[in-house]
Amino acid sequence: MLRWSDVLRYATYSNPEPVRRVEQTEETWAQQLTPAQFQVLRQKATESPYRNAYCRSYEPGAYVCAGCASPLFDSSTKYHAISGWPSFTQPQTKSAIRYTFDESHHMRRVEVSCNVCGGHLGHVFPDGPEPSGLRYCINSESMRRIAAQHSEPLSAASH
Ligand SMILES: [Zn+2]
Repeated sequence: MLRWSDVLRYATYSNPEPVRRVEQTEETWAQQLTPAQFQVLRQKATESPYRNAYCRSYEPGAYVCAGCASPLFDSSTKYHAISGWPSFTQPQTKSAIRYTFDESHHMRRVEVSCNVCGGHLGHVFPDGPEPSGLRYCINSESMRRIAAQHSEPLSAASH
């Protein structure tokens, strides 16, 4: 289980190696993603609180990156954080997420990105519930949820 000390270590020194890498031009991303997905994933926009797809949605399933379809979070770690964005206590795997310090808006926060394609997801904070104490605060636009009954997630996603 990852804790805040792990997050700080990753952001300060180096992140876990991703299982694969997806690299493509911003032009290709712009063609592949919806405008809203592109703004969040590639331009680090923040979507509106509450008025987003997964904020109040707790159906079982796996949340994958809207850019590269890599697994990011599982619904079993999703909880109600009253923040207005979907919130999780743990990533799907240790290597799923990349952590970097974000000094924008006169704050020091830890930005979380997809470790495979580098897409911006949101931020992680040390005010989550025990035992991890983590709150991954994630933009709905950066993810797609795949229903739990599909054991082969990617091929089943569009139905
Ligand atoms: Zn990705």
